[in-house]
Amino acid sequence: MNVAPKTLRYLSDLEEAGLTLAEKRAALEKVAAQYAVAITPALAELIDRADPNDPMARQFVPDAAELKTRPEERADPIGDDAHSPVTGVVHRYPDRVLLKLTHVCAVYCRFCFRREMIGPAAAPLTPKQLDGALDYIASHPEIWEVVLTGGDPLVLSARRLKQVMARLAAIAHVKVIRVHSRVPAADPARITPELVRSLKAKGKATYVVLHANHARELTEAARQACARLVNAGIPMLSQSVLLAGVNDDPQTLGALMRALVECRIKPYYLHHGDLAPGTSHLRTSIEQGQDLMRALRGRLSGLCQPTYVLDIPGGHGKSPIGPNYLSRDEAGCARIDDFNGRSHCYPPAA
Ligand code: SF4
Repeated sequence: MNVAPKTLRYLSDLEEAGLTLAEKRAALEKVAAQYAVAITPALAELIDRADPNDPMARQFVPDAAELKTRPEERADPIGDDAHSPVTGVVHRYPDRVLLKLTHVCAVYCRFCFRREMIGPAAAPLTPKQLDGALDYIASHPEIWEVVLTGGDPLVLSARRLKQVMARLAAIAHVKVIRVHSRVPAADPARITPELVRSLKAKGKATYVVLHANHARELTEAARQACARLVNAGIPMLSQSVLLAGVNDDPQTLGALMRALVECRIKPYYLHHGDLAPGTSHLRTSIEQGQDLMRALRGRLSGLCQPTYVLDIPGGHGKSPIGPNYLSRDEAGCARIDDFNGRSHCYPPAA
């Protein structure tokens, strides 16, 4: 009898799978005690054991470097707490809220910006807290969009998702429901027809935003899972995190953006790494990110261009931090750089 491969959650599992070494166990135990560990079979399969710098391993396999916390790093790097009016809701921008249904994920990313809050030990939203969160949304008519996030909402059962979607569908002023998830790539088999159906809310537009950082994550099974969503009329966007040694070169980042567009997923955000504790070995500089965006602009279709953004530490929201193509000369003429780096004049308005 074949035994289905299981999600790797313990250091003994990782050692057995050839992903970590027994001699590193002592240091990695300290990492695992602080930050959750899980690697799904679909992602474990993508890790090249022979490559010590494998981009999949850098994303998912715990590393002793996570024990080094820098002074500028913080437990709540994007300031969720400062904007949480009731448990489970983050209301940072006027017309939209985050609704955090669960703190569990299918896979735990080593750079996670909510790494201090998520994990199997973190308590899920209780029924009473969910009532409070939905009451808050219902009593704020300015809320046009609800973003289901966590944790990863697609670890929940289709039945539970359907209930939440139905309750959101009953709130007239909510028009858009956005679901942020890594599941279509991390555990494609979870995207069943039943789960896809559960994401539809009568009279509302549902979007699914896939978190993916490397083209290798878009396996055939992942592509099929995304196709099940898109074919059901659920548009998909992507969000990626710029990560040192994972996607911080133009070829790798470009290949990811193209793979997403081929799957009918519009690249939405490229996030600059947040100041999450123990993640400095995975962060790039903003200048590197801007150079990469310039390289994409020249080489790839406009469909493949995400917006490069930074969540300003402290809860001040996201701002685009991509390269600037516009300056002014002394005569007031606008100078615009083309994708080859040449500058051109555009005359002032008459
Ligand atoms: S899936 Fe998202 S919330 Fe979960 S560990 Fe990765 S980045 Fe964090």
